[in-house]
Amino acid sequence: MDNSGGPRAIILFGPPGSGKGTQSHLLQSCLYVPQISTGDMLREHIQAGDALGQEVAAIMNSGMLVPDDLVNRLVEARIQKPDASKGFILDGYPRTLQQAQVLGDMLRRRGVTPVVIHLKVDYNEIISRLSGRRQCPLCGTLYNLSTNPPKVDEICDLDGTALVTRPDDSEPVIRQRLEEYEFQTRPLLEFFKSSGYPFYEVNGSGRSRQTIAKEICSLVAGKR
Ligand code: AMP
Repeated sequence: MDNSGGPRAIILFGPPGSGKGTQSHLLQSCLYVPQISTGDMLREHIQAGDALGQEVAAIMNSGMLVPDDLVNRLVEARIQKPDASKGFILDGYPRTLQQAQVLGDMLRRRGVTPVVIHLKVDYNEIISRLSGRRQCPLCGTLYNLSTNPPKVDEICDLDGTALVTRPDDSEPVIRQRLEEYEFQTRPLLEFFKSSGYPFYEVNGSGRSRQTIAKEICSLVAGKR
């Protein structure tokens, strides 16, 4: 258990479609620390059309992982911002052993304790979630056409913006992303356990997003 009282990095871990994005947004209001999503940061670069965005667009649209050094640099710069000084929630990072090792070093240097939340979700549910997923391009809120639809079809409840489907949520790309998870990311579970990081498993299937967030919140906020 982590009794340090110092800043913590809450690592939301799980396959694509396990609810990491949704949970990281919900958890901000319980843990009072920012959510850091490497996927969102990369998509912002693509939207801006800058050099980094151009470098990663084709890789992301194919469902492959972008190079470790690139995401490591993004995260290193992001966690140095003042709002991350009291801790942060990591969504979609680390995803390879190399990233996990670099993150481990970064956190040690900064006196931040990692805490891993493993979101476990049934494989068939993942496929249906990813193919029905929509996102607000303005505020990032995630919807699902079958399990969590917006009040007005294809429109964000919060700001009225037309929702979009991510280019990597098409069927062949979903398959590639799940394969990347299986071979590159899932092995990190062993790394986290052998490193002795505080580790919690949470059932992410068949329950409302609020119930899941409440469970994670009490696990993490209560254990200090
Ligand atoms: P996500 O929004 O987390 O599902 O990420 C979307 C895509 O961004 C992934 O399929 C990868 O191409 C890329 N990506 C996001 N985070 C990482 C990461 N930590 N390492 C490598 N690629 C990443």
